[in-house]
Amino acid sequence: TSSDAASLLEYGGNVTKGLGRVTEGIMTSGKGSYVEYHDGRKMLDFTCGIGVTNLGHCHPKVSKAAADQCMNIVHAQCSIAFHEPYLRLVQKLLPIMPHASLDSFFLWNSGSEAVEGAIKMARTVTKRQNIICMQGAYHGRTFGAMAVTKSKTIYSQGVAPLMPGVFSIPFPFWHQLGGTPDLAESEQVKQCLYQLDILLAQQTAPADTAAIILEPVLGEGGYVPAPTAFLEGLRAVCDKHGILLIVDEVQSGFGRTGKFFSIEYSGVRPDILIMAKGLANGFPLSAVVSRKEITDKLAPGSMGGTYAGNAVSCAAACAVVDAMHEENILENVNARSKELFSALKDIKTAHPEHILDVRGRGLMVAVEFATPSGPGAAHDAVAARTGAPAQMASRVAKKCIERGMIILTTSVYEVVRFIPPLNISGTDLKKGADIFREAIEEVIR
Ligand code: PMP
Repeated sequence: TSSDAASLLEYGGNVTKGLGRVTEGIMTSGKGSYVEYHDGRKMLDFTCGIGVTNLGHCHPKVSKAAADQCMNIVHAQCSIAFHEPYLRLVQKLLPIMPHASLDSFFLWNSGSEAVEGAIKMARTVTKRQNIICMQGAYHGRTFGAMAVTKSKTIYSQGVAPLMPGVFSIPFPFWHQLGGTPDLAESEQVKQCLYQLDILLAQQTAPADTAAIILEPVLGEGGYVPAPTAFLEGLRAVCDKHGILLIVDEVQSGFGRTGKFFSIEYSGVRPDILIMAKGLANGFPLSAVVSRKEITDKLAPGSMGGTYAGNAVSCAAACAVVDAMHEENILENVNARSKELFSALKDIKTAHPEHILDVRGRGLMVAVEFATPSGPGAAHDAVAARTGAPAQMASRVAKKCIERGMIILTTSVYEVVRFIPPLNISGTDLKKGADIFREAIEEVIR
């Protein structure tokens, strides 16, 4: 009962301080686009548990598939035998992969582990060591993934040395190029590809470079879709030098941006694609997908993990893929996306002094505020003119929470991100946008 839950709150003090938390209390249940807390609060969830419960909390078909699997076999260890849900999932994923060459799967538990796997695979098969990543990238919290994470110092501060052999270039994001939101996309792409060229000439020779890793939509770095020309440019450099292109779709994948995978917008072929989060709608599961030609070079036993490709998670993921097809989820994403962009652009028009940018793709959308606390020229200039309050993004997020909607910030800039369920109703989407507008008005009043 909820009073039992309340009595547990004191043990929160025994949970590591290393975890941050954006809401107070104990989350006791979730259904669809809403979660409930022990004290009776019912909240609209615009976080999906950081982009995971894409089909809503406790989707009946997914939960039932997992429950049924629990009564059949829970742990059919992947290095001991195949299990049915694993192979069934491979069967269901093959036809939705963004390129027919992606035909070899390794299932793991988390996004971070999948990144580790991809790096290990790239180093093994190319016999090269170095990895190039993007400024602002987030790939996870394990040591290899942390080394290619460049979105906030907090993730690695005080824990160096990290994995060596990592280099970074700017991602086409006006902040990283010292510009403003209207900096032409073609100019951004040109500058970033130039940085890659000189990096390969000055710091890491192509013959030492195993892979380039990036998110097709920069996630924890600020919700910025990579322009097609940039992705094509990276592909061309990889082709020229035999470097592998690793595309991390952990957050942008599984329908989040209106296609199964965000890389599909560009038509660019990844050598390795990583997915997790929405794949199993809350059950721990990730996948490293590559082509047989690459993975045939791996020694049997070189990849593995006790819980890797857990049977219950795989059964849930099979139900996710089925539901995505049966419930026309991508159609809903595209319809709701239009409504969300239109609502947010109206808010920007009403508050041009405070909102710098509305951007994203599908239902992976961000609003960036101008405040004196954000680094960069764009913020300083606007904030000096308007006297906008500091920490605007976290203040607005806090007001949203007070008004019954959970929402997250992202990046070192003043950004609020919208990651609602992919099957959210038009009514709930509008409710969220209204709460967001009211929260802004309260903060700047
Ligand atoms: N890659 C990306 C793009 C992510 O957004 C995340 C998680 N936010 C990760 C990797 C790490 O995934 P996990 O937290 O499951 O380890």
